Amino acid sequence: MAGILFIVSAPSGSGKSTLVSHLRQQVGALEFSISWTTRAPRGGEQQDREYHFATRAEFEQHIAEGGFLEWASVYDNYYGTSLQALRDAESRGNDLLLDIDVQGALQVIEKFKESVSIFIIPPSPGVLESRLRQRSAAENMAVEEIIQRRLRQAKSEMGEIWKYKYAVLNDVLDEAVEKLRSVVLAERRRRGQPEKLLQAIAEPAAGLEPLAESCLTASLRSSQSAAGLREILQTFGVS
Ligand code: ADP
Ligand code: 5GP
Repeated sequence: MAGILFIVSAPSGSGKSTLVSHLRQQVGALEFSISWTTRAPRGGEQQDREYHFATRAEFEQHIAEGGFLEWASVYDNYYGTSLQALRDAESRGNDLLLDIDVQGALQVIEKFKESVSIFIIPPSPGVLESRLRQRSAAENMAVEEIIQRRLRQAKSEMGEIWKYKYAVLNDVLDEAVEKLRSVVLAERRRRGQPEKLLQAIAEPAAGLEPLAESCLTASLRSSQSAAGLREILQTFGVS
């Protein structure tokens, strides 16, 4: 695709949806891919706004027709990114942002070497657990088994972090949003996208690029300043 494909991914409860909704308010020309899912709408969710809600038969037919860029079975429901979302963003000259689970992200990273993958790191297993509980309580579904299953899965998903280009710690929300924004704008600048240059130029270059660079997983592996983040990863059993 001509625009940039951004993938934001992490274990459930890390804060992807929260971060993405803040990011979209701050960065233009960034389309959000509305996924297909077989799960039922929650709360005030509406058809074709949060998700394209589909039956299992409809979803399986779309798989058979080759209609998905990626799809995965996430906690007993299908979720997938339609190829149409990619075509639509491309035809409008926009970048596309995916908020998808780790299995789906690994498929996209493999297919689109030029995609920009961003892993969201929760501050600790304890904070992840309390965020999962807080969200479930808000949705009236604090089922212990669901929470424990997500926590177990989080530990194995965290181990995939090194396959991503960037990683952003989601501790203080504003700081995490700022880092995410720096990654998007730095990638645009790096690729010299003419139609979005004005927005990139309006950014103070001095702060932007070092901030984005500090989020590279390559820096996370070795830099002195990332020692604290490596300690956080160790609490999830990742080294
Ligand atoms: P995900 O999309 O990764 O499953 P959500 O965005 O739904 O996660 O966030 C899970 C819960 O954590 C929500 O209740 C959200 O309000 C809360 N949350 C997200 N980011 C932060 C943050 N930086 N600080 C405190 N709470 C947060
Ligand atoms: P929720 O049901 O809470 O909206 O989403 C559950 C999980 O499915 C989240 O981790 C979310 O990122 C992921 N997800 C949403 N859309 C897609 C998608 O199109 N593909 C994949 N692989 N995961 C998705």
